[in-house]
Amino acid sequence: MARYIDPVCRKCRAQGKKLFLKGERCYTKKCALEKGRGIPGQKQVTLHFSKPSDYKIHLQEKQRVKNMYGVLERQFRKYFEKATRQKEIPTGDKLMETLERRLDNVVFRMGFAPNRRAARQLILHGHVRVNGKKVNVPSFIAKVQDVVEIKESSRQILLIKDSIEADVQVPAWLEVNKESYKGTVVSIPNIPELGLGVNPVLIVELYSK
Ligand code: SF4
Repeated sequence: MARYIDPVCRKCRAQGKKLFLKGERCYTKKCALEKGRGIPGQKQVTLHFSKPSDYKIHLQEKQRVKNMYGVLERQFRKYFEKATRQKEIPTGDKLMETLERRLDNVVFRMGFAPNRRAARQLILHGHVRVNGKKVNVPSFIAKVQDVVEIKESSRQILLIKDSIEADVQVPAWLEVNKESYKGTVVSIPNIPELGLGVNPVLIVELYSK
């Protein structure tokens, strides 16, 4: 199925919320929303939305999370259904945990790529190893003790070097050694502690309707 290829800021502008799809830029004044750019196709500076319905709030949250992680509906639904089959942690947290453990997110969180989209490209082009073996599947789910590294011959890629130099904060469930371009998954991500700024309960309620 085709992937969304329009300028990514349009997604944020359409929803009126930051989806953090461009890495560092999203935290600066260069962000389209910071500049007051509203709904695509409309020439407006101040965002104005009528009060959304309950359903729309739930739907928007699901779309926001899907867009953040770059996951299409079918895959997202599969993650949700898998999350409902376990009982250890709340379904929404399990869903978010799975999304966080996707290899493209792990590469991004380790600071080897400026955003998830770039991380996905690095993986697809074979620049990433997991436990010493090439993995070119962005949806690969990393496990505790997995070692993720940038292939030796790819370490001169400017995008990777710039990203490492940007010195982003690495979450506690990952450990990174920048000198060796390697990182380890040291634990399962604790979703409530991560402060992701999403409300997975809305997604669970939407799918449960
Ligand atoms: Fe969204 Fe980031 Fe673009 Fe801002 S800079 S509109 S947060 S993708």
